[in-house]
Amino acid sequence: MKESAPAPDRHVPVPERPRRALVVEDEPHIRELVALHLRLEGLDVAEAGAGDAALRQTEAERFDLVVLDLMLPRVDGVTVCREIRRQRLNADVPILMLTARREETDKVLGLDSGADDYLTKPFGIRELLARARALLRRPRADRIGPPGLSRTPIAAGALRIDPARRQATVDGAAIDLTPHEFDVLHLLASHPGIVFTREMLLARIWTEDTHVTERSVDTLVKRLRQKIEADTRDPRLILTVWGTGYKFADV
Ligand code: CA
Repeated sequence: MKESAPAPDRHVPVPERPRRALVVEDEPHIRELVALHLRLEGLDVAEAGAGDAALRQTEAERFDLVVLDLMLPRVDGVTVCREIRRQRLNADVPILMLTARREETDKVLGLDSGADDYLTKPFGIRELLARARALLRRPRADRIGPPGLSRTPIAAGALRIDPARRQATVDGAAIDLTPHEFDVLHLLASHPGIVFTREMLLARIWTEDTHVTERSVDTLVKRLRQKIEADTRDPRLILTVWGTGYKFADV
């Protein structure tokens, strides 16, 4: 019996690549529990039991989420986090940090390690999954298009941004911004909590100029902060992500 070839079905969508997560934890039962539940969420999960192994994996492939324990053998979680932020493939990956105590949580955030969110142990698995889902919903910075597309006004604290008029105000008073300053502010503020590397900002904002360097980004952010932050030594709107770039406060 000869079977005819199946007719092509235009309505079958191309299956999306399963989202890939990395769970870095040296305690096997916690690692396995987290990995199991992320797999039940439909994620493809890799595991690492030490910091150096995690860095080898993140150098080799792109992940959609990293769950990272703070206390790890050989290379600790904060160092792993900072190194991931310098990598080509995963500089902007959402990182959920697991910490043992409240004080460590403060330390992790105070050090500006580059983690996107944290959970204090012991944590409930439902809480972990809720945080993981929220991080997975965020668009990655390298999939965000050029600025200027959205014309929706943005409000953050005393700051108002009006993209249609390309104008920003602080406490109702208009502030004087260069076109590049406005574009950087608008891009960051349109995607609160999302990490933009200096390279990504250069590629999106300085499209016509190939002579600018990553230092130009820092200089521009410094000027922007003087115009929009109440205290430039303690910025609350444009936050530095250590070793990586910048993100707008997720308020
Ligand atoms: Ca540990």
